[in-house]
Amino acid sequence: MLIPTVKEAPSDAEIPSHKLMLRAGLMRKLASGTYTYLPLGWRCLLKVIGIVRDEMNKAGAQEILMPCVQPIELWQQTGRDVDYGPTMAHFQDRHGRQNVLAPTAEEVVTSVAAGEIKSYKQLPINLYQISFKFRDEFRPRFGVLRSREFIMKDAYSFHADEKSLDTEYWSMYETYKRIFKRCGLDYVIVEAETGEMGGSGSHQFTIPCPSGEDIIVYTEDGSYAANIEKAAVDPLPKTDPRATEPPVLVHTPNVGSIEAVCAFLKTTPQEMIKTLIFSVGDDTVVVLVRGDHELNPEKFTQVLGGKHNELAKPEVIERITGAKVGFAGPMGLAEKASKLIIDYAVAVMASGITGANKTDYHVKNIVPGKDFPLFGDNIIMADIRNAVEGDTHKSKKLLFKHGIEVGQVFKLGTKYSVKLGCNFLDDSGKANPCLMGCYGIGINRIVASAIEAANDANGIIFPISIAPFEVIVVSLNQDDAEVASTAEKIYNDLKTSGIEVLLDDRDERAGVKFKDADLIGIPVRITVGKKALLTGSVELKLRTDPKPTLIPVDTAVAKTLELVNSLKDKINS
Ligand code: ATP
Ligand code: MG
Repeated sequence: MLIPTVKEAPSDAEIPSHKLMLRAGLMRKLASGTYTYLPLGWRCLLKVIGIVRDEMNKAGAQEILMPCVQPIELWQQTGRDVDYGPTMAHFQDRHGRQNVLAPTAEEVVTSVAAGEIKSYKQLPINLYQISFKFRDEFRPRFGVLRSREFIMKDAYSFHADEKSLDTEYWSMYETYKRIFKRCGLDYVIVEAETGEMGGSGSHQFTIPCPSGEDIIVYTEDGSYAANIEKAAVDPLPKTDPRATEPPVLVHTPNVGSIEAVCAFLKTTPQEMIKTLIFSVGDDTVVVLVRGDHELNPEKFTQVLGGKHNELAKPEVIERITGAKVGFAGPMGLAEKASKLIIDYAVAVMASGITGANKTDYHVKNIVPGKDFPLFGDNIIMADIRNAVEGDTHKSKKLLFKHGIEVGQVFKLGTKYSVKLGCNFLDDSGKANPCLMGCYGIGINRIVASAIEAANDANGIIFPISIAPFEVIVVSLNQDDAEVASTAEKIYNDLKTSGIEVLLDDRDERAGVKFKDADLIGIPVRITVGKKALLTGSVELKLRTDPKPTLIPVDTAVAKTLELVNSLKDKINS
């Protein structure tokens, strides 16, 4: 069997799962963000796929398979050819037609449904596939946690009314809970934004771990958990008004960034008002956040009613502020911009330092509400920043931890069905767009997060449900006929009993065999050696136990079965 274990991981492998998946011979890198799965790695993926498929089928979803190469016209109909940007890979075929490599499949599934669904009597329906997705990620890294090519389970449901969508959404939510539990993962469910998908409600299933790229924001009592894109913060209390001096211009030559201005004026980012200027179609939108806060693009986009936005080009900024980039301030901009959007935390500042709308100048003692308006027809006050340490949600302190997103469920509404003409006739014969939900799971990410969640200095510690093998039989003295035949008999008996078992009958030293067994993370190990066999015993050891126990050789199979079943029960209990 091809299990090419190695001592060292390549230097670009930064996190445990990436290192261990390479060291344990689960996979090999082909190019940036693409991997070949070797026998052990593929077995793990198949185990995960098996669990996902089983639970989806039990929930009444129907498996299909859609093409990975898709015509761009479908994506143009929803506008997502633009929204996905360079993350979606394009190519032209020999007949000059533009195609994309599927990063997801809402467009295709909705066009299929548009052709096949005629009547409310066919609804609801949930179609899913387990297939490759390609996303030309800006920064593929962490092995299969963020790869360019990966396997996704993506499901799409179609409904005649809101109530039916809601029922299916929560059924998928419960299905996901069962899937991740069966995969042996400790997950946290967080409220999420809908992002490119569009729609009204969403939850993410995340695995807390330090190398996760998502930030989970939660309250200690568990009453609230959201990802950082979504996490809503309470408005800060109004700062006591200080006896402020009138605004003073300060010369800050070539000092544009918040850090540089703070160093120059010996102040802190908290005392500053950051003025950001965006283009939203032909409109110019001015945004204010406190100097130490970060604008939250999802919250900001929500305030814009979901409209596409980007930082304004220098010429736009210069036109509206009359100054070079880096010196924008809110004074006078409410009149010039289409909209002024002010974060709550800025509105409660007693006073702040900001750009003077004059190249190389900042201005001190700017009082919100006095030096620029907080209310007006084109002025919106909103929560548009990321939550930070010290913030509260409904008066409860917010805490932060990193997590890996392994799955997400969305209520899409009619976004795709309207654009792609996916209608059904209701019982009065009237055509209505189907309501939709979509539900994704990252198959490869499950394997990587399971390894992130459980490993030690010796290697992977697989949950038994997704381990490539449940048991490994290690024969220590292959040259000894009795040892070899005992090991082989235990191996065959376990196999006949339905156990997924691997036999290590290589001509290697004991140390090498134990190291490899630990590295590849097989949950149960049986060791057959000459010395123990003389007393009629073999060793039985859990991957998580420090030491083996000796058991009579004739009980080995029964004991192992018992152990495997108890490990499975533990996961499913
Ligand atoms: P992320 O925010 O991490 O980029 P996403 O929210 O864009 O992911 P979805 O569109 O929700 O991803 O896709 C469904 C699932 O596919 C995700 O929950 C994740 O488990 C998996 N997935 C997405 N992108 C990748 C990737 N680049 N590599 C591996 N798995 C991925
Ligand atoms: Mg997601």
